[in-house]
Amino acid sequence: MHITGSRISSLLCSNAPLVGYDSWWCLRFSAPTNSSITRPWPKFMDGVRTDRCLAVASIPSIMEKQPEGSNDCVGLGQEEKKGLEERKMAETDGYQNLFGLMKQRFLGFKNQKYMKELEYFRALAEAQFPKFMVIGCADSRVCPSNILGFQPGEAFMIRNIANLVPVMKNGPSECNAALDFAVNTLQVENILVIGHSSCAGIETLMNMQEDVESRNFIHKWVANGKLAKQRTKAATAHLSFGQQCRFCEKESINQSLLNLLSYPWIEDRVRRESLSLHGGYYNFSNCSFEKWTLDFKQCNKKEENSYVVKEQEFWC
Ligand SMILES: [Zn+2]
Repeated sequence: MHITGSRISSLLCSNAPLVGYDSWWCLRFSAPTNSSITRPWPKFMDGVRTDRCLAVASIPSIMEKQPEGSNDCVGLGQEEKKGLEERKMAETDGYQNLFGLMKQRFLGFKNQKYMKELEYFRALAEAQFPKFMVIGCADSRVCPSNILGFQPGEAFMIRNIANLVPVMKNGPSECNAALDFAVNTLQVENILVIGHSSCAGIETLMNMQEDVESRNFIHKWVANGKLAKQRTKAATAHLSFGQQCRFCEKESINQSLLNLLSYPWIEDRVRRESLSLHGGYYNFSNCSFEKWTLDFKQCNKKEENSYVVKEQEFWC
């Protein structure tokens, strides 16, 4: 069974402007409440109606599974025992709320989205035809589906520390395995590398000493962005460290776009214009998004490892 372009278009139109599922879900279920969800659960979850949280009630209580007469409280006074029990209860409630709400979200997705778009999801069960391959940072605050509204089936995605693409000569990684599948099998038409503000991975890259061999996994990984760091240092020596990091967050995206061209099967498709390479930058301090596209023809006219971009847009 195939999903037609018009089918996908109609789904896109029906959701226009695209809204991330989490946002959609929140709209569906938000209501004033005195729900007592402990941090770090997102503040917006405070608005979830507990009378809809049947899922919470259906989860067996962890406390019920505790052996009776637990000797944790031996030697404690009545008040201390009471405090300990209350803390235990609070921790258990937090656990139940986390997974109870997760279950509620899933059932909300099933009832309000899957069942209503049954034909679409049945087609997706047979095959996927995403137009995008997305490479985003693993940071919990920057989920591309959440901020850009990718619906199931629309984006083949990988997320790693600092949204980096290693060059082909660096050997296999989960990133280039995903690229291989997305480009050669799924034949996506667009690769979008998304960076973001206050990226701890980029900060680590900017902080680390390059001449010191590190066995740290994170150091070894973010070293994939060292050319971006070098360009950043050369261009922003007069700026503060924080400003240099912001610069490098974008520079590393462009380095990843150039690194994508080190894979011959990607460069070939870009050259034949069946694949486009895009950069995106999400600033969660002011909730803005920058989007641009690598100008492959102009890049070819420049010296190696330099780039030209086009179709820049700023969404705010
Ligand atoms: Zn990051």
